[in-house]
Amino acid sequence: MKEMTNNKKRNILVVEDDLINREILSAILSDNYNVIQAENGLVGLEILESGEYDFSLILLDIQMPVMNGYEFLEAIGQIPSFKSIPIIIATSSNATAEEIQCLENGASDFVVKPYNPDVILRRVGSMIRLSEASSVIDRVEHDAVTGIYSREFFFLNAENALLENTHTEYDIFCCNIMSFKMLQNRHSKVKIEKLLIGITKALKENFNSDSIYGKTTSHTFSVLTPHKSRENYESIVENLRNALKSLPISDAVVYFASYPSVDSSVPVMTLCTRALAAIEDIKYQFGKQFAEYNSEFNDKYIRRHAILGFMESALKEKQFEIFYQPKYSLAKGKAGGAEALVRWTHPELGFISPAEFIPLFESCGFITELDFYIADKVCSDLREWLDSGKPVVPVSCNLSRADFSHPHLAEVIEQIADKYSIPHNLLHIEVTESAYTDNMQVFLDTVQKLHNSGFCIELDDFGAGYSSLTVLSELDIDVLKLDMYFARNMELSKQRLILKHIFSIAQGLNMEVVAEGVETKEQSDAFREMGCTYIQGYYYSKPLTKAQFEEYVKEV
Ligand code: C2E
Ligand code: MG
Ligand code: MG
Repeated sequence: MKEMTNNKKRNILVVEDDLINREILSAILSDNYNVIQAENGLVGLEILESGEYDFSLILLDIQMPVMNGYEFLEAIGQIPSFKSIPIIIATSSNATAEEIQCLENGASDFVVKPYNPDVILRRVGSMIRLSEASSVIDRVEHDAVTGIYSREFFFLNAENALLENTHTEYDIFCCNIMSFKMLQNRHSKVKIEKLLIGITKALKENFNSDSIYGKTTSHTFSVLTPHKSRENYESIVENLRNALKSLPISDAVVYFASYPSVDSSVPVMTLCTRALAAIEDIKYQFGKQFAEYNSEFNDKYIRRHAILGFMESALKEKQFEIFYQPKYSLAKGKAGGAEALVRWTHPELGFISPAEFIPLFESCGFITELDFYIADKVCSDLREWLDSGKPVVPVSCNLSRADFSHPHLAEVIEQIADKYSIPHNLLHIEVTESAYTDNMQVFLDTVQKLHNSGFCIELDDFGAGYSSLTVLSELDIDVLKLDMYFARNMELSKQRLILKHIFSIAQGLNMEVVAEGVETKEQSDAFREMGCTYIQGYYYSKPLTKAQFEEYVKEV
């Protein structure tokens, strides 16, 4: 409603090739309305499509060059958001049957030339009032851009269909446009609307007429449709993806999900949420754009939400505990260090693996709070050991890639260590290359700062992801932690060759090497032969409670 708010007058588009007639109509209307003129149908269409004005009415001439009134009616009949604009046909007194035919093609009324100002004003006024009243109703029921059911009416109509056709098996099909806000910022309103309209059209072409369509959020479409096989959906998704390629925003990423054979006793809104949960699940899986819902997704979704819901209170209630896994020094024949690993046992959910909750905490940023908490506990334990005269080995803490968004990460770690007066060489910091890929400069600066303050830097999971030697050349890494993958695949000659080179690089760069996930004597011996200095793995010790770890350090 851009123009209407700036200027209380409603906008009227006059499409008429005769300049004099246009001027007459403008003169009649301009006291009450803002009149925009177009000299033929094509110009009129361009003005509409520019999206610059919201029009309350169109006055349309029939005989025009370039694009006549019939063609204009046909063109705007294709565009749902223009369909609702009332159109009055301006016709000569001896109106032809064809002109009257326009009423059937979407026009609302006609006025006869020469124009009678009173008649024109009255017709225009009543037509606008009528159309605004019905559009209020329509806007509630239908989505203004796509013309399909709005959220509430989709749920209502879908529920009715489920109730009325108890013998039909139904599915829910959803499609979700990713990063919609970002697309809205990058593209014009008209382009976004064309995308939404394009998706609607493609959906209608791929589903039968007994399907019900809804625009269930700004970026989600839902369809209730008679049951189809998975293969059927796969080919529908293929068609939809092809259709998307020809739309004006070709970088829009759209995900699809089906929820087959829905339980009609479950509210349709819940069914749609479940289908979207299936989309959640594939969002980060490369190359996957279609998911079929099954109850596992729902369980996962519920569990994920439960975990996220419990995390804050878990921290307050000190449910997070630290386990220490020794790093066995092959040279000394005893623990030369340890890694602090977080453990969470929730009173209701029981033991939750860090492999499950850490990615969730990373997605919402909570991991940083947890990592600071763990660093604080580790320093407090180190202080206790130092004070009691017990043997002390350096302990490493893991930093998540998400921690690097914290503007003062290095400073906070330093403050924590200093709070307990821990010599910095007793606290090691484990970082992964994934943090480097996220934001190279921030990563390099932060790690360098930590290193310069005397903390020992360990590069975790080396060889697991997209390892690059650049990180090694650009940073002062003190310890290389070889990912478990190498221990698992040592018998492969290719892996051995790669390992040999890694060890010679490590030696050249003066780095110690820790082999992770070593479970057997054979693996340990093989690593020792290659020049490995530390072994961390079940063969020497599993992660231990604080008390167990104190015993281990004492005994070995
Ligand atoms: P990571 O840092 O690579 O830690 C090593 C993981 O390997 C630990 O799993 C450890 O229990 C496991 N492991 C050690 N030796 C063996 C072995 O011989 N065999 C097998 N199968 N596994 C072994 P965990 O504790 O489940 O931790 C998984 C990951 O969670 C860690 O991988 C680390 O990335 C992350 N993590 C754990 N604690 C924290 C934390 O406090 N903060 C952050 N940011 N991440 C953490
Ligand atoms: Mg680690
Ligand atoms: Mg690791």
